[in-house]
Amino acid sequence: MLRRSLLIVLAAALAAPAAAQAKVPQLIFPVVGKAIYSDDYGAPRGQGRHDGIDIMAPKRSLVVAAEAGRVTFWTSSSRAGCMLYLHGKSGTTYLYIHLNNDRTLKNDNDGGCVQGVAFARGLKNGARVQAGEVIGYVGDSGDADGTASHLHFEVHPGGGGGSVNPYRHLRSARKLLFAPAPGSDVFRLTMRGTVVSAAPDSATLAVDRLVRYPGGHSLTKVGRKVELAVSPETAVFNPLGALIAGARIAALATGKPATVWTETQPTTLQAQLGAPLSLTAEKISLSQ
Ligand SMILES: [Zn+2]
Repeated sequence: MLRRSLLIVLAAALAAPAAAQAKVPQLIFPVVGKAIYSDDYGAPRGQGRHDGIDIMAPKRSLVVAAEAGRVTFWTSSSRAGCMLYLHGKSGTTYLYIHLNNDRTLKNDNDGGCVQGVAFARGLKNGARVQAGEVIGYVGDSGDADGTASHLHFEVHPGGGGGSVNPYRHLRSARKLLFAPAPGSDVFRLTMRGTVVSAAPDSATLAVDRLVRYPGGHSLTKVGRKVELAVSPETAVFNPLGALIAGARIAALATGKPATVWTETQPTTLQAQLGAPLSLTAEKISLSQ
């Protein structure tokens, strides 16, 4: 929703030379879970052209760092509302605009641009963050107030220079399966879906729903296949609730709905991406 005139202020604040030719690295997609966007960069918006892309997502969807870098909060723009800059290690700066400002799930505008509302719980202004770390929450602050919640995302190669179209960078971005709870370096998941294939030491689940702990953050309509590691210690229950040998999962599981509990494991980017065998099943419960 943001208009061009704000950028003049932002560019002045950053006071860095333009370097639009600087290379933008492969990004982590900045929103976790269901998100819809189109190439609306440059579209006419009120007083100017649209300098970013609006990523539509449910209110309070987790917003993550597109690459490793340092965050700076910006809370004094009536247009941008609650926003932050991510100064990426690559030299590219990303603008995250219209973060959540509501205390409740209603549009109360009562939460303020603070940690736990707009910015990730415990995240400090100026903090260094890892790629894929939660930095904020999707909302409708600023001149997006009352519209469908979305993240206005801008990409500025070289830092303070002009923006480039984020579209192809978003298209080629790696999407996270989940994001860990802010401040936690371990996680576990509960996933529901259908077993697509299984071998004695792995099972591929077409994931429909997912809950991440600690925090109990849930995602629906995940729509991704994840290849899980199955170990001799994995407890596998058949549709009658009987414990079976893990090695027999291959013969039993294909095509069956299942709930999978992962081991508690350290947070890694590979696990967050749902990379093959990066998650280990502790327990698998099959149903008919
Ligand atoms: Zn926008």
